[in-house]
Amino acid sequence: MALSRNRLYAWRWPAWPFLVLCATAILTYAACDGVDGPPADPQTLPDSPAPVEPPAPAEPAVTMPSAMPGGSPLAEAKPGPEPSPSPPPPPEPRSRPKPEPPPKPEATLIIAPETIHPGESARVEVRGAGAAKARVTAEGRTAPLVSINDAVWLGYISVTPIAAEGTHTLTVGLLNADGELLDSLVGEFIVKPLPSLPPPTPEETAAQEPVEAIMLPPEVITLLTPENAAIDDRVRFELHSNVSGPPRWSGPWIRPVDGQDDSPFGILRSYNGGPVISWHHGHDIVADQGQPIWTAAAGVVVFAGTLPIHGQGVIVDHGAGVFSGYWHMAKISVAPDMELLAGHEIGLIGSTGASTGPHLHWEVIVNGRDVNPLQWLEAELHP
Ligand SMILES: [Zn+2]
Repeated sequence: MALSRNRLYAWRWPAWPFLVLCATAILTYAACDGVDGPPADPQTLPDSPAPVEPPAPAEPAVTMPSAMPGGSPLAEAKPGPEPSPSPPPPPEPRSRPKPEPPPKPEATLIIAPETIHPGESARVEVRGAGAAKARVTAEGRTAPLVSINDAVWLGYISVTPIAAEGTHTLTVGLLNADGELLDSLVGEFIVKPLPSLPPPTPEETAAQEPVEAIMLPPEVITLLTPENAAIDDRVRFELHSNVSGPPRWSGPWIRPVDGQDDSPFGILRSYNGGPVISWHHGHDIVADQGQPIWTAAAGVVVFAGTLPIHGQGVIVDHGAGVFSGYWHMAKISVAPDMELLAGHEIGLIGSTGASTGPHLHWEVIVNGRDVNPLQWLEAELHP
C-alpha cells in the first residue's frame, strides 16, 4: 500500500504548481484587457494583440478571425461577409498639384524668297505646327499646304505680273481634322519691280510698259478668239490645277530645251498692229524644229494633247499645287499618268497652235495662276 500512497501523493504534488500558474495567467490576462477598454470582442477589435498574425490594415472589417489566437490559416485567408455589394470606394487621393502641360511648340513660318518680282512665286513652310490641316491665303487665293512630315507643312504662293510694289502679307491657317481653325500665322513678303528698260517702241511708250508686237498670218490670228482661249484655260487651270500631294521633285529645275531665251513671261502683247490685248503667260525658248523637249522636274503627266491656241503640248503635275506646261510641240512622246523624272523627253520642238515659228512655250502654274518659269531654275524656291 505504501506504493499506492506514494502514487497518490506523487499525483497531487505536481498538480499544485500547475494550477497556481494557470490561475495567475487568467487573472493577468483579464487585468490587461480591462486597462485598454472593454473585454476583447473578436468581432470588433481588429487591433487587439494578435499573437499569431496581425490583420491586414486595409481590411479592418474582415480581419477578426485571423486575429484570434489559434485561428486557422483558412480563416485568415477568407474575408468575412461583404459590407455592401459594391466594392469600397478607392481611397481619396491626396491633393497633389496638377502638373503643368508642356509648353505648346512655337510654329515657325518661313517664306522664301522674301523678296520676289511681279509674276513670281514664294515657298511657304510652317514648322512645328500641331495641326491636321493647313492652308495659305495670299493675293486673293487660298490653297492647301501639304504635309511633308509630322513637323513641316509646305506650299507655294504667287503674285500676278501686275502685282503692286511693296510689302504684301499672307496668312497661314492651322486647322484640326474637321477643318476648324486652330491658329493663324501672318507673314510678309516684298514685291520688287523688275529693272525697267527704256521702251524702244511707240506701243511701249504709250503703254508705259514693254510691249511685244506680234505679227501673225491670217490663218493663225483667227485662232485668238475668246472661245478658244476659254478652252485652253479650262484645261490649263480648271482641270489640272489641284493640289495632288507632296512635291514630287527636289532641288532646282532644269531648262526644258537647249535653245535661246526669247519672249519673256509677263510681257504685254499686241497682235498685227492692234492694241495691247494680253500678256505672255509663259517663257519662250527658241530652238530648231524637232529638238527634244525635257520635263523640267519630276512629276506625273496629267495632259498630253492639243489645244486651239497652245497647240500640241504636255502638262506635268509636280505636286504641292505646282504644274508645268510645254506647248507648240511638233510631236508628243508621253501619255497621261506617266511618272517622269527630271529630264525625261516629252516631245519635240514645233510650231503648232498660235505660233510664229519653232519654239517652246514653257509655262509654270502655281495654284491655278501662271508664274514666271525662269524663277524655278533658282535654288531658293525649292524644298
Ligand atoms: Zn509663249
